[in-house]
Order: sequence, then C-alpha cells, then structure tokens
Amino acid sequence: MQNLSREVAARLSRLRCRIVGHNMKLSKEYKTHQREYVCDACKCQYTEDKNGYLTPLTPKLKRVNEVMEQFYIRRQAKTA
Ligand SMILES: [Zn+2]
Repeated sequence: MQNLSREVAARLSRLRCRIVGHNMKLSKEYKTHQREYVCDACKCQYTEDKNGYLTPLTPKLKRVNEVMEQFYIRRQAKTA
C-alpha cells in the first residue's frame, strides 16, 4: 500500500509538471559555470546544453560536465 501511494504521488507530480511546468532548483554548479537542476516536484534532473537550454540530465551528460570541470581545473592550475 505504501508503494502504491508513493507511485500515485509520483504520477501526480509528473502531471503537475506537465501542466504548470517544473519547479527547478539548482542542484549543482560547476566551475565551468555549467549548472545542473532538479525539479522539486518530480525529481527530474536537467542540465544546460551548449545553447543554454535545459535538457534532461543523462549519465553521459553528467560525465561530460564532470570531465569538462576536471579539464578546466587542470588548465587553471597550469596558468596559475
Ligand atoms: Zn518536474
């Protein structure tokens, strides 16, 4: 029963997001100024693409964000 109500709650929040839009909260900001967001209601994760538009955060995109930050930090260390 507990699982069922949780599932119903998840469906309702997804429905709410479809109607009024996601309630985005900044979840992570990289040194490269790349940002990741999470929706407070449905817990969907998003990041910005190269044009600055929000796109669903896939494990691949998360990895790209992390690699870019590593690259940035290493480059900063060299010039400092
Ligand atoms: Zn949402």
